[in-house]
Amino acid sequence: MANKRKKPTTGNGNGNGNGDVNGYAKIDQYDADTVKRIASRYRDVLNDLGEDPQREGLVKTPERVAKALQFLTHGNHLNPAAILRSAMFREEYQQMVIVKDIEVYSLCEHHMLPFFGKAHVAYIPNGHIVGLSKIPRVVDAFARRLQVQERLTVEIRNCIQETLKPLGVAVVIEAQHLCMVMRGIQKQHSIATTSAFTGEFQQDRTRAEFINLLSKRRD
Ligand SMILES: [Zn+2]
Repeated sequence: MANKRKKPTTGNGNGNGNGDVNGYAKIDQYDADTVKRIASRYRDVLNDLGEDPQREGLVKTPERVAKALQFLTHGNHLNPAAILRSAMFREEYQQMVIVKDIEVYSLCEHHMLPFFGKAHVAYIPNGHIVGLSKIPRVVDAFARRLQVQERLTVEIRNCIQETLKPLGVAVVIEAQHLCMVMRGIQKQHSIATTSAFTGEFQQDRTRAEFINLLSKRRD
């Protein structure tokens, strides 16, 4: 029953925090052979961890893991620039456009453990605007891959800059990394912040306005 996995996820592109429901809803877009291959390796992994892959709770786990991993990396098959181009409009508006608090769910490429948090994206149009819902979808398309937070931040910035050619782009991501929280370094509440700017956002005044607008969300 499974065949295609290249079909992009639709919707607002924003995580709903409920990966399981999301994942299972997409069940028929997984490639059956790939699921089988990954699952058989995970049976070996379970063995090597001292588990019994045949016990009731684990019988279907390798297949579930295989599908979950495919879902969590499906951004590899998406084209974020095409997502933006699908909703670009000519418009004279030249004030800052900000999309705040975009949910981010990604996997750190060093441990394949989740990192998650919020992205804030701003741009200053230069003849074109983009449908606001596309910004979270671009964030998601880059996040649903094996990533590091720094690269994720820069890739989002570059994609918007190169596609929309605005007067400037700003991207800030605040995220918690489970590889830090759950492993040795138990800094339970530490949050990593990364940022990347182009154009007008490299000027102190514009960047300050952006940061100021971000901090207002907590009022
Ligand atoms: Zn890590």
